[in-house]
Amino acid sequence: MDLFDFADDLHFGEVHIKNDPDTGLRAIVAVHDLTLGPAIGGCRLHQYPNSNAAIRDALRLAKGMSYKACISKLPHGGGKSVIMRPPDLEETGERRRKLFNSFGRFIDHLDGNYITAEDVGTSVDDMNAVREYTDQVLGFDPESGSSGDPSPFTAFGVRRGIEAAAYVRWGRDDLEGLHIAIQGVGSVGYHLAEELHELGATLTVTDVNDEAVQRCVDEFGARSVAPDAIYDVDCDLFAPCALGAIINDDTLPRLKCEVVAGATNNQLAEARHGVALRERDILYAPDYAINAGGLINVAQEYRGYDAQLARKKASRIYDTIVEILERAERENLPSNLVANRIVEERLYGQPLQ
Ligand code: NAD
Repeated sequence: MDLFDFADDLHFGEVHIKNDPDTGLRAIVAVHDLTLGPAIGGCRLHQYPNSNAAIRDALRLAKGMSYKACISKLPHGGGKSVIMRPPDLEETGERRRKLFNSFGRFIDHLDGNYITAEDVGTSVDDMNAVREYTDQVLGFDPESGSSGDPSPFTAFGVRRGIEAAAYVRWGRDDLEGLHIAIQGVGSVGYHLAEELHELGATLTVTDVNDEAVQRCVDEFGARSVAPDAIYDVDCDLFAPCALGAIINDDTLPRLKCEVVAGATNNQLAEARHGVALRERDILYAPDYAINAGGLINVAQEYRGYDAQLARKKASRIYDTIVEILERAERENLPSNLVANRIVEERLYGQPLQ
């Protein structure tokens, strides 16, 4: 599809492109929407096959950020940047620093419309290099006043979303004795397991990393299963915290839970799997609404970091999830569609679908 048609489909927006032969920087900044405020979203470093693929990725990811910021009632639009990784770029060193310096100069010329942060492939050191040339960067060195690792905040937000889903599904104000299966106990999944264990939930966990699993068994008394067996666990709630597209034609018929609520981005392989979950009477907490704790935390940094305030704001994910799930019940619609409609009503005055 033509790129402008693709951009139209996603309701864009602006796309900025920088080529800097001196440093090897080839970067794209996609600003999806500025209705609610400056666009916020991380910088991805990836070896793309060509510039078309890089631009498409930036557009798709930036739209996702708009929806996440909007559903979380943040005063921000969505943006994303991608840097086409030179094949021989080192993980650290002067050449890399110069590349990110150049990226910093690039986004400094965008009139404050785009704020960047760490993402897949980029590091705190890279953000420090960006910061040498612009203030439009978050998630740099925590010792210089940045908010640091977002995953505990993401996990806290997911926990609040799980509490909301438990309220809507079972009318419960606590998680005592609920059986929760967690797929992936890395950065977010581990912190989530800790929170849920403290609240009295019974845990079954899986991960391809045996050490990560053992840590949860030892610290939280979790039961463990093999990675592929997680879909068959007879549990109350399934919390995906690893891979995208894990709700699909193969896994869906196997699920024995009443609720799906976890941190993973893009959990549904396709939108129609949201319909299928509803048909099976499985409540689904839309991924971009429940996993916004990290974004809420980093957006707080933009206004002067205050961890307590950030936590208070992330706690409101509870209200967001209740609003979505109750409207889905009332209107007899899949919750992923309802979340999109809430966003589109706020941004465009009416739903697009
Ligand atoms: P992570 O890499 O720290 O953890 C992911 C874990 O999943 C790892 O322990 C990995 O071994 C495990 N895993 C990989 N493949 C697996 C499989 N087939 N079966 C079971 N486990 C598997 O990542 P993270 O930061 O914890 O993020 C988890 C998910 O949440 C990702 O989808 C991410 O995009 C999303 N997310 C994270 C944040 C954040 O703040 N880190 C914010 C929003 C969304």
